[in-house]
Amino acid sequence: MARKRGENMRDIEFAFSGAGLDRAAHLRSDPDQWVAARILPIWQGKVLLDQTAQRLAWVDAAHTLSQLADLAVFLGIHKQTPYFAIDVSSQDMTGVPQSDGFLDDTTQTHPSLPDHLQFVELRQIMTQLPALDGELAATARAITGWHASHGFCAKCGGASAPAMAGWERHCQSCGAVHFPRTDPVVIMLVTHGNQVLMGRSPGWPDGMYSLLAGFVEPGETVEAAVRRETMEEAGIKVGNVRYLASQPWPFPASLMIGCWGQALGTEITLDPNELEGAIWMTREQVLQSFADPNAPIRPARKGAIAYDLIRNWLADTL
Ligand SMILES: [Zn+2]
Repeated sequence: MARKRGENMRDIEFAFSGAGLDRAAHLRSDPDQWVAARILPIWQGKVLLDQTAQRLAWVDAAHTLSQLADLAVFLGIHKQTPYFAIDVSSQDMTGVPQSDGFLDDTTQTHPSLPDHLQFVELRQIMTQLPALDGELAATARAITGWHASHGFCAKCGGASAPAMAGWERHCQSCGAVHFPRTDPVVIMLVTHGNQVLMGRSPGWPDGMYSLLAGFVEPGETVEAAVRRETMEEAGIKVGNVRYLASQPWPFPASLMIGCWGQALGTEITLDPNELEGAIWMTREQVLQSFADPNAPIRPARKGAIAYDLIRNWLADTL
């Protein structure tokens, strides 16, 4: 779990950031890093976890999975140790993943691994992982996910191949160079006096509400995206907007940009295509739902930036 003091927020505590991983981009063309590396296997978006230690599990370059990997990506260096991710999604695992539902809580493993090393959905364990593990896992999941969905050149349609230790893809036909993408998403704490605006999407667990969020569109500023999304989804006009903090959210490739918006009114007009529900909650109501696991309304999920924005608003530390 990342713990740091941000520029704006006094107490930030969310997953996937804060460890200060050195990505060592100058070493991406140096194949020697692989030999001494700690290597994180990723299988169909799941990370390998040591269930006993509740830490990421690593293999070395000689391991069967490293030999069978479809792709290797250099993640960076920490305390002189190089870190890589490998994608082993094409390998058969024991254990069947769950295909529906909100979060897949099944685990899988490979015959070459001891039983306590299992592939798990990253969101299930994000609050347990130490900061460095969280940052490495988020990077690994995002970059392997990008490769998995960008096998062909966006310019000519030809097949592309990984390059620069996994940080580029080069088209085999026209030579175009493609870089990994990150999709900016605004997530906004919209307040009006003592109340915060919360919404829920279709398919979320019963009673779960969180801050409104939406993709930034081409040609749009972060502030404009906050105002547009809040208007589109809930019909609320937002005035002043301030940036607070950001969180990588590799499901599959988002960067969550946390903002604080001042609502100019409170009358909600719901867009049912975007949201199933939207409500104003007072500080007291949010505190109550944080304290009571059986409360009818459960705001956000621990480890996600929304939870932290709300927590800091409650503590008056924004
Ligand atoms: Zn091409």
